[in-house]
Amino acid sequence: MTKAATDNDRTVAEHPEPGADLPAESLVTALAGIGPGAAEKLKRLGIGTVRDLILHLPFRYEDRTRSVPLSELAVGEEQLVTGQVQTSRIVQGRRRALLTTIGDGHGVLNVRLFHFGARQRQILQSGGWMRCFGEVRAGPQGLEMVHPEYRLHAEEPPAAAPELTPVYRVTQGLVSRRLAMWVQAALTRCDPAAFSVNAQLAAGNGSAAGAQSANRSGETGDFAALFDAVRFLHAPTPNAEAMAAARARIILDELVGHYLVMKRRREWARAAAAVPLPPRRQLGRLLLRQLGFRLTRAQARVTAEVLNDMAGGKPMMRLLQGDVGAGKTVVAAFAAVRAAEHDCQVALMAPTEILAEQHFETLSEWLSPLGIGVGLLTGRQTAAERRARRNAVRDGDDLVAVGTHALFQAGVEFHDLGLAIIDEQHRFGVHQRLLLRDRRTDERMPHQLVMTATPIPRTLTMALYADMDVSTIDELPPGRKPVKTRVASLARRGEVLRQVRRACAAGRQAYWVCTLIEADEEDPRQAAETTFQGLSAEAQDLRFGLAHGRLPANEKAAVMASFKAGDIDVLVATTVVEVGVDVPNATCMVIANAERLGLAQLHQLRGRVGRGGTQSVCVLLYEPPLSAVARERLRLLRMSGDGFAIAEKDLELRGPGEMLGTRQTGEQTFKLADLSADRALVPKAVRVGDRLLAEDEETVHRVVATWARGEVEYASV
Ligand code: ADP
Ligand code: MG
Repeated sequence: MTKAATDNDRTVAEHPEPGADLPAESLVTALAGIGPGAAEKLKRLGIGTVRDLILHLPFRYEDRTRSVPLSELAVGEEQLVTGQVQTSRIVQGRRRALLTTIGDGHGVLNVRLFHFGARQRQILQSGGWMRCFGEVRAGPQGLEMVHPEYRLHAEEPPAAAPELTPVYRVTQGLVSRRLAMWVQAALTRCDPAAFSVNAQLAAGNGSAAGAQSANRSGETGDFAALFDAVRFLHAPTPNAEAMAAARARIILDELVGHYLVMKRRREWARAAAAVPLPPRRQLGRLLLRQLGFRLTRAQARVTAEVLNDMAGGKPMMRLLQGDVGAGKTVVAAFAAVRAAEHDCQVALMAPTEILAEQHFETLSEWLSPLGIGVGLLTGRQTAAERRARRNAVRDGDDLVAVGTHALFQAGVEFHDLGLAIIDEQHRFGVHQRLLLRDRRTDERMPHQLVMTATPIPRTLTMALYADMDVSTIDELPPGRKPVKTRVASLARRGEVLRQVRRACAAGRQAYWVCTLIEADEEDPRQAAETTFQGLSAEAQDLRFGLAHGRLPANEKAAVMASFKAGDIDVLVATTVVEVGVDVPNATCMVIANAERLGLAQLHQLRGRVGRGGTQSVCVLLYEPPLSAVARERLRLLRMSGDGFAIAEKDLELRGPGEMLGTRQTGEQTFKLADLSADRALVPKAVRVGDRLLAEDEETVHRVVATWARGEVEYASV
């Protein structure tokens, strides 16, 4: 509900202004007017400190800088108007309203108010002035505003404020205006020295010019001081150039900040010690011999890189990239075997139950013959099972422990953790990785191997994973034929089902993947179950299985096992099959409502077929009409099987937040930077970051403190 501005126009100026004395790390409650209740609301927005509040930038602005002549109003726009009251009367429509006509000598406007008191009525009847901000509509008697924000004046009001009005992301029980007041209070009270002042961080290229025009809250120029850029964006004058400069200044600071945090983390790891794991018992050779295939050249190369890292006394921090099906698991197995040679434990963490179970099976098959104990620990096991596994891990009986994040939950102690392997990194937040460092009782850190099938463009790897060395498997195992991809409208579903039948008649198997609009909007079970029942009735000659995330763990495992054994022809599933499922005999995949999924996810899904030597097919079924973006996605997928090319495109179409899955984990990597729009700044951020590291320790410290958030401990390496 909009309120008359006259009633609640309290400003921070009411409070005495003690000067810029507040450290940026102070809790928001240090500011006048923010009590525990308000602090709780701010916390929901991720705002805990004065710094957080200052960095909470508006997501849009309202232009109330200019009072628009009533003859120039534009229907549908939000505008500021000023006029003198001509008539004002109560009208009885569907709702009782006060209908006031104001004029400014050029034109007239009707203002319809539903909430009004005696005082408002009195001013309105006495020929006073009214200033309103709201959407202009075409009403029954000419243009009107329906319950705009308004303010009454006895005299003609002065010119409007020259700054744009910020609109902030808020939460229940908090309005943007109030947040704006707090932000202004924070800007007044906070010591600007907490933020970086460095001309190299000015986004404009001439850093000398930037240094000159900066330091003041520049109307133009490159903003050498981050604080000035931020302050400007909270209440900017409508100057597009200056606003762009301020944004660019902040984005560069943020990108540099992220890079520096990563670098710090890396230095920190370099300074730490790890258990050296050089070659010892030649178990790797045994593994190689019993694999049943030869390593590709790429696999051999990255395996050597990994083992080489592990041999030293420094913790390995390595990212292993490789497209779906490139064969990352076997590399992980070699690393695990090496740790086992030293009786050091290995933790392999997977993002889903299915994937954890799959890894458990694969590793048991490969490692048990070598006398290495493998255990599984997931959240869905019974308490007794879990306790047994926990004990085995604690006593060191399970040398290799495979699991979901349950593996790193409280209560799981490792006897001697030497290596942590994290599969499908994009599903875990960066922060989850950090939990690892507390897993040893001595000062040493476990080695870390992070595997991802989301190919990250190189420019981004530099910045996003500056804390890691990167190995890439850039070659698929031999004999793979690219998956034939078709795009078909739902109208051709019958034809598609016939194709599935043909594949199954030839002894192959198929996936039928059901997508969901929103994870919580629709019961995932429902979509898959309905499809399962429908297909089972339509094609009684085929054996169907059903897998979705809400199935009890043992049932899900049973279904997956019979699919693997070939007892099920068609597995109807939600996107739980997205990662990790490995059934080479499955050569056909149908993805229903493929238009709902992003490129990377579709590519991942498709990677479940084409794992054996047989030609595989993937049908992307869509429900028309297709949006332009969805059409483009499906087209790209049909044309390309190359994960890297697809990732580049995905970045353009969706932005990295979704691509890297940070949105799924609820972790927001960047506040303002958008890696798809701002990626051109990434190489510059790396350059500037390196230079600061070499020359300007103080700025490094400030930038890290500004952006590191929960990781401030790294700031003090
Ligand atoms: P991803 O990189 O997607 O995790 P996986 O490790 O699951 O891929 O491997 C995919 C499939 O390819 C598995 O069935 C695996 O056994 C097989 N595979 C891996 N490396 C080779 C190889 N060098 N030759 C033949 N098959 C291989
Ligand atoms: Mg894998």
